[in-house]
Amino acid sequence: MSPVNYPNRLYNPSMAIDRFGRNIHYLRISLTDHCNLRCIYCMTEDQTFRPNPELMQDDEILLLTRLFASLGFDKIRLTGGEPTVRAHVVDLVRGIVSTEGVRSVSMTTNGVLLKKLAQPLADAGLHRVNVSIDTLDPEKFHRLTRWGKLQDVWDGILAAEKAGLTPIKLNAVVVKGYNEEDVVDLARLTVEHPWQIRFIEMMPFADVTDVQTEQIITAAQIQDRIESKLGRMEASNDGKLDGEARVFHLPGAQGDVGFISSVTHPFCSACTRARLTADGRLRLCLLREKEVDLLTPLRAGASLDELRQLLLDGVWQKPWGHGLAEGIIPLNRAMNEIGG
Ligand code: SAM
Ligand code: SF4
Repeated sequence: MSPVNYPNRLYNPSMAIDRFGRNIHYLRISLTDHCNLRCIYCMTEDQTFRPNPELMQDDEILLLTRLFASLGFDKIRLTGGEPTVRAHVVDLVRGIVSTEGVRSVSMTTNGVLLKKLAQPLADAGLHRVNVSIDTLDPEKFHRLTRWGKLQDVWDGILAAEKAGLTPIKLNAVVVKGYNEEDVVDLARLTVEHPWQIRFIEMMPFADVTDVQTEQIITAAQIQDRIESKLGRMEASNDGKLDGEARVFHLPGAQGDVGFISSVTHPFCSACTRARLTADGRLRLCLLREKEVDLLTPLRAGASLDELRQLLLDGVWQKPWGHGLAEGIIPLNRAMNEIGG
């Protein structure tokens, strides 16, 4: 579908609407760029991180959340880097959940610390988690994450389920030469568990672009492999997208299998998202470099009205979609600073 440029008169000062008429109301906040793993598709092993003063501080995150919520952002996802390594993450969640206008708060996490944190996060009001798990083979898991122990993540998933952070969604990035065969066992999890496993096509960013472009496995290839071993899947959710995922279920399964094909079948026309990077920049499209700095003006004493205007003007300029098909790769940041 080709984009329609809406005239300026649609500009509504109390809602974040872009120039194509999309109402942007889903905010993904990267709480930190730091991480306790080093996944090969996300960062290099010797990745360095921003010093803490460059990251948004707790009061800044809460203030910016209020600002976004006042413009109709009602759905928030906390991500990173690894959001659970952020100091005071439980208090931050409590503050974000209680922000007027915010209706749903979820988290994307590698799950390593969930065994300990799932219950406190649930008690603080967190609604749901997506946990990343790319394989059920401990050795391959270690190879993909460089530092991770599969058992920690598995314990984390069970702790999240016990704490009521449901429905549980699992994210798997599939990398040629690493885990393309493992998609079958991951999909099979949904037979016995009411979980949704979502296979994500690997996207290219800075620092590890070679791996990301040369070792990509497409959603269609993953689906073929699963169906060749486990039988044909039927569409779930009346064939409609669930968030960004096309969802299916295996015969008799309790859960769903989803595919996020951002590279081969982008869902840009239906995008309602904006992102706040760990250093306080409004990122308008995951795969475009365009950003609006909110933190520097905030620290320089900008009024709430001035910040609101910056935010609205930024959203108005949200790019229609990414340019991967034209070979345009965003290189100004690695994935961990944006949060996925
Ligand atoms: N550390 C948390 C985690 O791994 O879930 C949250 C941040 S991580 C950047 C968010 C999601 O992005 C994860 O599901 C991760 O697997 C995915 N991801 C990381 N690098 C990616 C890439 N190059 N392409 C597609 N997804 C990627
Ligand atoms: Fe860390 Fe998540 Fe990136 Fe893996 S994908 S290195 S867990 S931020």
